Amino acid sequence: MTALHPAPMSPTADPAPILPGATIGILGGGQLGRMLGFAAREMGYRVAILDPDPDCPAAAIADRLVPAAYDSVEGAIALARGCAVVTYELEHVDAALVDAVEAAGVPVRPGGHALRMTQDRLAERRFVASLGIATAPWREVVDEAGLHAAAADLGLPIRVKAPMGGYDGRSQVRVAAADKIPGALARLAGPPRPPGTPLLVERELDFAAELSVITARALDGALAAFPVARNRHDAGILVESVAPAMVEVAVEAAARALGARIAEALGAVGLVTAELFLLRDGSLAVNELAPRVHNSGHWTVEGARTSQFEQHVRAICGLPLGDPAAHGPTAMVNLLGTGALREACLEGAAAALADPLVHLHVYDKRRVFERRKMGHITVAGATDADEARARGHAALAKLRWA
Ligand code: ADP
Ligand code: MG
Repeated sequence: MTALHPAPMSPTADPAPILPGATIGILGGGQLGRMLGFAAREMGYRVAILDPDPDCPAAAIADRLVPAAYDSVEGAIALARGCAVVTYELEHVDAALVDAVEAAGVPVRPGGHALRMTQDRLAERRFVASLGIATAPWREVVDEAGLHAAAADLGLPIRVKAPMGGYDGRSQVRVAAADKIPGALARLAGPPRPPGTPLLVERELDFAAELSVITARALDGALAAFPVARNRHDAGILVESVAPAMVEVAVEAAARALGARIAEALGAVGLVTAELFLLRDGSLAVNELAPRVHNSGHWTVEGARTSQFEQHVRAICGLPLGDPAAHGPTAMVNLLGTGALREACLEGAAAALADPLVHLHVYDKRRVFERRKMGHITVAGATDADEARARGHAALAKLRWA
């Protein structure tokens, strides 16, 4: 087990663990909340979920569901009532909710600082820079003139990213040529932005690979990192993770060290994911941070001695961390939606499961549309990573949305 360096107990931390039978509140009821809830229930905890959609994926595992928006302080307080601890499954919850829950006397973990530093891409870039850790060269811009200047400075291609609310490659645009700069800001999706709203512009890196490291930090400061995963994205959306990543020992060690420093600096209690670029010179740059369980950690359910979901529950409940080691090479491929918005009806599950190494996870989203994350496949027990990937993609090819 990779406890990197136990840290002293913070004087304000409550050393008494939250025990099975207690209720865990989760802000957000998507697939991450659902899988987190499965792990919590397995250990005997009760689960309360806040989500605007009463049919959200986590509804099926919720003892109690508070139908409220991600910026509803009243909703968050209603959720916290009866909870021993509250966590979040997405960064897009309003930080005011965290403050309100803590003011009501219920701890929120990984915590408010971790949320604030990671929900705004500009704050995140500054935070990472303050640790002396590399990112893609970036600028803050507010208008098209600034974008021209940033492009001249950074060199093309660039990525323009809305600071708040982006995920799965949404809310960012790629600009590859100077004559595409006019209108680029208008092409940026996401919540309405008043003129003058700062945006992140960064150079597109020619990386050798994308990696991620998921670090658990316990209430007493102990750390445990899962083996680094190697991730492949298609137009900004994760399509495949393989772990262990089969990178050089020095790269694995550097990724783990970086994850540990970030988790500590965030003061996080729970999981922190760092999405990384492995550059061609062997160095690492941070792309994005998430103070939560992560799609690139889904492989741990079948592929590691402790799943990321169980690990997060253990950490936020003040329990000792589990062993994050991998059983062996594991591949995870995402099951994405296809076609127009319609009722979700999956075909081909029996054919996909004809391979006994294949495990199918479906999130029970009621409606499907193009590129929506609907489930995933994990292959554990293959002799090597290439075989695991090939079996994963072969199984995925058997599935379709009617
Ligand atoms: P999201 O919040 O949508 O995951 P990211 O910033 O992580 O947004 O971008 C999604 C993906 O787009 C990344 O995983 C990577 O594949 C690609 N990408 C984003 N920024 C860069 C960059 N600066 N250079 C190269 N690829 C990038
Ligand atoms: Mg990302």
